[in-house]
Amino acid sequence: MARRASIRIDLARRGRYRLLQHRNRSGPMQQIIEKLLILQDRDRRIMHTREQLARVQPEREAFQGNAASTQAGLDAVKTKAKQVESDRKNLELEVETKKQQIARYGLQQFQTKKNEEYRALAHEIEVCKEAISKLEDRQLELMEEAENLQKEAVIAGREAETARKAAEGQLRELAAREQNLRNELTALESNRNQLTADVDERFLRHYERLLRNKGDNVLVGIEHGVCGGCHTRFPVQLLVSCRAAKEMVTCPNCGRILYYSPSMDLAAVD
Ligand SMILES: [Zn+2]
Repeated sequence: MARRASIRIDLARRGRYRLLQHRNRSGPMQQIIEKLLILQDRDRRIMHTREQLARVQPEREAFQGNAASTQAGLDAVKTKAKQVESDRKNLELEVETKKQQIARYGLQQFQTKKNEEYRALAHEIEVCKEAISKLEDRQLELMEEAENLQKEAVIAGREAETARKAAEGQLRELAAREQNLRNELTALESNRNQLTADVDERFLRHYERLLRNKGDNVLVGIEHGVCGGCHTRFPVQLLVSCRAAKEMVTCPNCGRILYYSPSMDLAAVD
């Protein structure tokens, strides 16, 4: 009882209660409708806040994804650079092997007394020298490639650092926004509990059933004689009883709770 009285005082303070009492001159349902409209407003805000909260995680993943993909770009360049360096070292070893072969052939040439064998060894030496020349060309190419990769790595490193810092800032902002939304939701939900405590159980159950089935558009106004939810045109009698507000009036088609306020044009169009 105390809570009811205090809410009444609160409403009166805001001019709502008086407005309902004096301007409307309507039945007891009007007060219930008024409470349910405030409840509906809370529920809309709760749903809206929950929707915003649901978007936080995908947004977080997108920010993290951006930073991760630029970092992956940098890692790829570094891996490539390592590969090139290792290829170049392998070439060095191959050159070394060829040089040793040449030395061996040279020694054999020195030891042989057969002209034919001497010429064959000279040919082998020539083949080795050509191979070395090709290996050295390839080494030069790889050195050039390594140099380019070095430059690429510097750029990619800068990009990764920028992306990392950007993501850090974005994630910090997002975390703050998430916390605000959570606080807001907690406040709204506790406010909702207070509001429902003041609504007759019977109407509340009806309202909540509709809320589950129809989403956040449970109480709808009548404008130009049609349902604000499904746009069904109403017979005059229904408009009259809605205006009288003596009982709960629902749409015969969609079941939503109907209400009327003086600003609405109630006239049924025949
Ligand atoms: Zn309807």
